[in-house]
Amino acid sequence: MTAQIKVDNLHKYFGKLEVLKGINIEIFKGEVVCVIGPSGSGKSTFLRCLNRLEEPTEGDISVDGKIITNKDANINKIRTNIGMVFQQFNLFPHLSVKKNIMMAPLELKLKTTEQAENKALELLKRVGLLDKADVMPRQLSGGQQQRVAIARALAMEPAIMLFDEPTSALDPEMVGEVLSVMKELASMGMTMVVVTHEMGFAKDAADRVLFMDEGIIMEEAPPSEMFTNPKNPRTIEFLNKVL
Ligand code: ADP
Ligand code: MG
Repeated sequence: MTAQIKVDNLHKYFGKLEVLKGINIEIFKGEVVCVIGPSGSGKSTFLRCLNRLEEPTEGDISVDGKIITNKDANINKIRTNIGMVFQQFNLFPHLSVKKNIMMAPLELKLKTTEQAENKALELLKRVGLLDKADVMPRQLSGGQQQRVAIARALAMEPAIMLFDEPTSALDPEMVGEVLSVMKELASMGMTMVVVTHEMGFAKDAADRVLFMDEGIIMEEAPPSEMFTNPKNPRTIEFLNKVL
């Protein structure tokens, strides 16, 4: 089986600060990979390199066999194929929920208005918010807004979804509704890379867990192993603090 995402010797500096110190990982189609680790360990930077929101300083990333870190790679095309959901949902405040979801496919002329609207409604149904199609984002709870943000990312019909702490900005009672949308996506075979502090989600939904510390993947294992029998002392120390 060939990897859908292949990361080869990825290094990233911000000025003199080396934030990623040689990341090597292969991620397969349909795999759900959760990334855990202390704050400042480079998790977000790693995720952002995967769709070139950050430029790697050194190393290669390929997606479906194509190197996306070349200077002449088409960034718009890369981002069409790789959706991303952030901690802050960043919906467009002046557009209705439905129009938020329709916007990118229309801007990039990937769909007609009618096709984009049909897709938006289908996605809203999937995230349980069909009745909110015409309301403005500010009329929604945080959990609902994040579900719309997920639908908006899915509107581009990406092959891969990246999530950077998608539930960290939510009130606790809203975390579950967002995680259950993500679990459904996982069960439909989406390739997902999820930076999360939700160890319960990682246990239930991940095929593999990566523990990052100081810009390195210190340990990787299936959740059953990572959470019961971690090997690296840094992993053990981290899990003792969060579990
Ligand atoms: P994590 O997501 O694991 O908390 P980050 O990838 O956000 O870690 O950050 C890793 C390190 O890189 C931190 O020391 C952070 O301050 C630094 N960093 C992140 N983004 C930038 C940036 N744009 N400019 C300078 N330093 C940055
Ligand atoms: Mg982060």
